[in-house]
Amino acid sequence: FKLIPLARKFDVMIMGYALCTVFMLIAIIKYRMLDATEAARDYVVDELSEGIIVVDTEDKISYFNKPAQKLFPELDDPEKSALLAPKLLFDLEKAIRSGEPIKIGEEIFTPRANPLTEDGTKIGTLYSLSDDSEHYRYMEKLREQKQIADNANEAKSQFLANMSHEIRTPINAVLGLNEMILRECDKVKASEEAASPEVKEAFANIGEYSGNIEGAGNNLLSIINGILDISKIEAGKMDIVELEYDLRSLLKDINDMISFRAAEKGLEFAVDVDETLPGGLYGDRVRIRQVITNILTNAVKYTDNGTVRLTVSSKNADGVKEGDTLNLRVVIKDTGIGIKPEDMDKLFDKFQRFELERNSTIEGTGLGLAIAGQLVSMMGGKIKVDSKYGFGSTFTITLPQRVVSVKPVGNLKAHPDNASDGINDDARHPYRPSFTAPDALVLIVDDSKVNLMVAQALLRDTGVKTDTADGGLKAVELAARKAYDLILMDQRMPTMDGTEALNLIRRQDGGPNVRTPVICMTADAIIGARERYLSEGFDDYLSKPINSQELEQTMLKYLPKDKISNNDDGTEKP
Ligand code: ADP
Repeated sequence: FKLIPLARKFDVMIMGYALCTVFMLIAIIKYRMLDATEAARDYVVDELSEGIIVVDTEDKISYFNKPAQKLFPELDDPEKSALLAPKLLFDLEKAIRSGEPIKIGEEIFTPRANPLTEDGTKIGTLYSLSDDSEHYRYMEKLREQKQIADNANEAKSQFLANMSHEIRTPINAVLGLNEMILRECDKVKASEEAASPEVKEAFANIGEYSGNIEGAGNNLLSIINGILDISKIEAGKMDIVELEYDLRSLLKDINDMISFRAAEKGLEFAVDVDETLPGGLYGDRVRIRQVITNILTNAVKYTDNGTVRLTVSSKNADGVKEGDTLNLRVVIKDTGIGIKPEDMDKLFDKFQRFELERNSTIEGTGLGLAIAGQLVSMMGGKIKVDSKYGFGSTFTITLPQRVVSVKPVGNLKAHPDNASDGINDDARHPYRPSFTAPDALVLIVDDSKVNLMVAQALLRDTGVKTDTADGGLKAVELAARKAYDLILMDQRMPTMDGTEALNLIRRQDGGPNVRTPVICMTADAIIGARERYLSEGFDDYLSKPINSQELEQTMLKYLPKDKISNNDDGTEKP
């Protein structure tokens, strides 16, 4: 500095210090050296629950936060860190591509990658690892619980199938043989001179007891059917099968069944049907019948005196055309015990029964309305209840039904006898076969002797000749030798089941029964049984206990017409 003239007079050291200080201050401000932001950022990043690892473009780890270091302690040591990097990056990328989490120790992490760019150029990648252990553990628990529930449900269905099968088999014997007792009683009662008054009276008594057995047996059956129906609905396997049907015959059917029950209790049963309603509709006749008879049966059950009234109408019946949708309105009103306001909400819940003490003698499971409610909504309809406790209840069902024929239903009472197309359960005695076919030969296959006896007895009055086989093998043997007009085949049999026997009979080369109709007659009535057996090749399906009218109607469809000598519509056949 002595070289500079000015420095000879002044000490420039001071000025030098001053300049240095100014430059230092500029640097500190420019590079924010005393700024707390950086430290704060580090602090926040370290406090995150996510592990963060930053790598540069050469895949070298340039930054990691504390949680990341806890997961991979090697990161602290530069040498080890360099060794760890390639494998770690490979694992992270693989997990990100497959969407799978990464397991580190006991914990489970979801990795994500974010590219880091500066002025549009990639300068590295930020990997984050979020700890999702709790979420995954929760999901795992849910999966386990679902599996347990599925297994339990499967076991329940299996149990129901078995229970239904096992209970139906003895009921088949009880109801079938009971039917025979009733028929025999009717014969004795009808014979004028053959029996003494005492014998006749004894048979009348037997007939009455037998009638009660029939009632109880059918009750038991309806309980099983109710349980099967609700489990079908809950499993989402209840199908609505829509077909064309005749409204008049449906209502006749319902009328026949309920008027009998109402008369037994001394109740008036009034039926008001708008005679102008279109007679041909499209919908699930079986389920509509089930819903209406169920609610009518309740009306009769829970009414001690007065009237049960069925009103069928529609607000849009006027001018309705084929193809239009008719809003069918079915109102069932009784003068019975009524329902308390607080019970109304639970009315359609399963297994709900009210006033158990008061109704202790009334049989029921509390499933009827649950099933009816579900069925109505599956058919796109609505069900509404009004009730005044102590005065009676009104159930209103509305169902949209497509019109197939506008021909009016007319007056139900006009032709009392020939309009019923269905099964009239309660007015069956005295029994009269719906056809006779003495030239027809039928093979009945069942491993239970009692069942064979029941089927044979039920067919006795039709005059059909029957052979019996006590198993699939025997059936195949008989079918190879003799031509049958029809085969009634049980399903569950030891050694060879019905389906196997059916297949062998159908495959008998040049066999006499290759084309013989085979009807599956089984106690297996669980979800989809009918569809399953039809898809296995059976021509038709009948569930046990055998309903003798159903059996006759089904046989009538398959027996050769020229072997049926008369049927119950009174027409003589050649
Ligand atoms: P249940 O087999 O017991 O008849 P439902 O599901 O058909 O079962 O009916 C459930 C309950 O609702 C019945 O137990 C009864 O307490 C009540 N209930 C149903 N219909 C009527 C009615 N018409 N009048 C009075 N109470 C009724």
